[in-house]
Amino acid sequence: MDVRFLGGAGEIGRSALCIDERLVLDFGMDSGNPPAFPIGDVDPEAVVVSHGHLDHVGSVPALLSGDARPEIHWTPPTYDLTMVLARDTLKLHGGSYDCPFTEAELARVAEVSETHGYEESFEAAGYEVTFFDAGHVPGSAHVLVDDGDTRLLYTGDFHTEDQRLLAGTTARPDADVVICESTYSDVTRPPREEIEREFVESLRTTIWEGGTVVVPAFGIGRTQEVLCLCEAYDLECYVDGMGKRVTELFLREANRGYLRDPDLLRRAKGNARFVDGRDGQRRRIAEQNTVIVTTSGMLHGGPAMTYVPAIRSHPTNKIAMTGYQVEGTPGRDLLETGSAEIDGRMLPVSAQVEQYDFSAHADRDGLRDFLSAYEDTRVLVNHGDRCAAFAAELRTDGFDAAAPELGDRCEC
Ligand SMILES: [Zn+2]
Repeated sequence: MDVRFLGGAGEIGRSALCIDERLVLDFGMDSGNPPAFPIGDVDPEAVVVSHGHLDHVGSVPALLSGDARPEIHWTPPTYDLTMVLARDTLKLHGGSYDCPFTEAELARVAEVSETHGYEESFEAAGYEVTFFDAGHVPGSAHVLVDDGDTRLLYTGDFHTEDQRLLAGTTARPDADVVICESTYSDVTRPPREEIEREFVESLRTTIWEGGTVVVPAFGIGRTQEVLCLCEAYDLECYVDGMGKRVTELFLREANRGYLRDPDLLRRAKGNARFVDGRDGQRRRIAEQNTVIVTTSGMLHGGPAMTYVPAIRSHPTNKIAMTGYQVEGTPGRDLLETGSAEIDGRMLPVSAQVEQYDFSAHADRDGLRDFLSAYEDTRVLVNHGDRCAAFAAELRTDGFDAAAPELGDRCEC
């Protein structure tokens, strides 16, 4: 097998691999400013997608330009999430260089889509391919590609610890080569229950003191995770932004089976009040003694642009971030400097600002736990900003490990 790294090598964003110039695994986009897309030209026979996050699927419709009609294989939730994300990209950037595809290309996705469940092998571009539950977001998969000679396992993004929404990955299929994500290879997190307890305690305190809490959360996975927490701890909340649509989507018949407990999310949805944003509703909610879960998770758009300015002046209020804040985002600026550019205006924030790590990625221990099943297997490290350092650590511990660079080809 000849594996070409078109993106996600030594970086996070625009994940893309090409096998023997026939099969593409993931085709993402980096939503930075300016956005970045996979490098090089590809004309695959088939495409296989690990999960529905922008950095893994964002450029997929661009593979359907001209006469090209490769089949696209994914799980049902990944298909649905890709459509939501792609429509969003078109709405934000359609017709500019920042959007890698056209409306017509997006419309073709449904024609070539083929959905598969976990552990049901299928054929793609002449390979036998199997998905295994990766425990990252609903529908996320490790992808095993077998050409009859070599078995390549592409982990995609994964989590080894249980979340409310999903159980951690337990799948360790036999493989000859593993391409492994390494997002948090230098982070060791406290147990999830501890982070949950601190988060809930903090929300309760603010409510008790008469304040409003804004919880910026990614629409896919994180919003639903926070809603499940609010339900479990009996906290009233509102939900706004892309997370509303995604919550509905996860509860669809075809997708429910990808949740750890569909009934929990159904109850969490019942506990949360959905905001439609009409007639100044957001401003009124921001004056209430309540919790508001909203996109965007890093404060660069979405209804948070209304809520944050509305609550920022009062120190009783709180902004409780739920994930990592990328450098250069308003969320990161707010954490580091106490002010941020919100919707084009630089705003000082007197409200309390906190951060909780509800990551859906394995931390250092989780990565090592996963890789302990592959001590005699060649490991190629990708999807991280210290891939080479992590590969070197693995080599010290006896692994045959390397960190390919962007554009590299590896014979596997
Ligand atoms: Zn992901």
